[in-house]
Amino acid sequence: MSQQVTGPVGHYVDGEWIESGGDPFESVDPATGESLGEFHRGTPAEVERAVRAAEDAFPAWRALSYVDRAEHLWEVFHELRDRHEELGEIVTRECGKEISEGKADVTEAWHMVEWAAGNARHPHGDVVPSEIAEKDAYMRRKPRGVVGCITPWNFPVAIPFWHMAVALVEGNTVVWKPAEQTPWCGQVVAEMLDDTGVPDGVFNMVQGFGDAGNAIVEDDRVDTVLFTGSAEVGHSIADKLGSEPGREVALEMGGKNAIVVTEHADLDVAVHSAVMSAFKTTGQRCVSAERLIVHEDVHGEFKTRFVDLAEDVAVGDPLDESTFMGPVVDESQVEKFHEYNGLAREEGVDVLVDRAELDEGEIPDGSADGYWVGPFVYETEYDPELRCLQEEVFGPHVALIPYSGDIERAVEIHNDVPYGLAGAIVSENYRQLNYYRDHGEVGLAYANLPCIGAEVQLPFGGVKKSGKGAPSAREVIEAVTERTAWTLNNA
Ligand code: NAD
Repeated sequence: MSQQVTGPVGHYVDGEWIESGGDPFESVDPATGESLGEFHRGTPAEVERAVRAAEDAFPAWRALSYVDRAEHLWEVFHELRDRHEELGEIVTRECGKEISEGKADVTEAWHMVEWAAGNARHPHGDVVPSEIAEKDAYMRRKPRGVVGCITPWNFPVAIPFWHMAVALVEGNTVVWKPAEQTPWCGQVVAEMLDDTGVPDGVFNMVQGFGDAGNAIVEDDRVDTVLFTGSAEVGHSIADKLGSEPGREVALEMGGKNAIVVTEHADLDVAVHSAVMSAFKTTGQRCVSAERLIVHEDVHGEFKTRFVDLAEDVAVGDPLDESTFMGPVVDESQVEKFHEYNGLAREEGVDVLVDRAELDEGEIPDGSADGYWVGPFVYETEYDPELRCLQEEVFGPHVALIPYSGDIERAVEIHNDVPYGLAGAIVSENYRQLNYYRDHGEVGLAYANLPCIGAEVQLPFGGVKKSGKGAPSAREVIEAVTERTAWTLNNA
């Protein structure tokens, strides 16, 4: 591939690219282990400078009309479409997603930008009936001020726009910290917003690690923090901000997602759903399924077919369109995956597929330093004490859990985890589908579909330990605006 990190490599603050005083770090291609370029860790002082710029820019930005603010986003929309192929490759090279998924990340970003910019011409409040005939009463939304956006690496272009597009159109200014694994994507997105001529300070990007993210969280001039990432970090942010008056926080976190396959399932649909949900993006989607809860009547046939496919799934060069699974993102993800596979063994599961350590012939030539793993599949009786059935691995680590009895039992197992992000049911029985729809404790429920996929016009957020005030799509409006009452004497 010919693309390289080019142009300014620094932070984008107050309309300028600034050189960072922070320590250098590399963006690494997970497929090869090779460096893609050098970036610098944002320091707390650099974050402070970005927050100050955002605060200063807020009054003039909020004074513009929605439509004027949205003009900048429309420019981004066209650029994302025009550079779809090129940006998709950058996503793939930096986070290892297979190329159609790299491009899909860019597609989802323009869907979000389109939704947010289009929303500038939609009503943003309510005309409310008053008790008094001469009084006009309205609910009006006001931008909250400075919005801090902290994003993960696995959707390095889409998720930032889930946060930022709405925040900006609603009249807020932004300080964004991309994930440390995907600084190149961070730079490209910042260049794109810079190219639109967005006023200085309205959008700021500081590269870096958790300490830079924490500096955003700790700065009380940041009125709203939008975070997507792990439950561990999200809960620590909630602990800091959850009860701080005047500061808003919206969190999207992980899950221990499950697919329920009932005795009334079409097994073609069930196996397809399971393979896509467990192995697409190498199991590194927040909605990836790590538990397959299968009725005993169909368990045998389902197991045979799923195991066959897991043995065959094509792991390889993510830039090659015939690849199904690319590498995982980094060494720590490899270690975590092996650690949980070992834990599952210690907990006494029956291992069905172990391609965790791939043979040399299974990885692309010249890629020995990449972060390669393959599917790990096991079967176990349901036991809520097993940590491997409770904790998110974020890799192609999948449990088959047979159940007997009715849909109520399956949903009981499905719900018996601390998380509640996503889940699916495969069944041709309406009572079962409806029961799952009403009782499945998840924010995103899929029926006769893979447990993956998002549409920006739908809610996207988890319940229980998976979320708080979704920082995505239309829900993000709640986190970045204040709902205020405006009443007017018309007599
Ligand atoms: P992570 O929590 O390690 O990092 C996310 C972001 O938080 C990064 O930018 C990181 O630098 C920053 N960060 C780390 N420590 C911080 C701190 N103390 N204070 C402030 N910011 C800090 O997550 P990750 O490994 O990048 O992403 C994987 C996780 O994200 C998985 O758990 C996955 O399920 C979750 N995820 C959830 C969704 C969703 O929509 N629910 C979407 C994608 C990923």
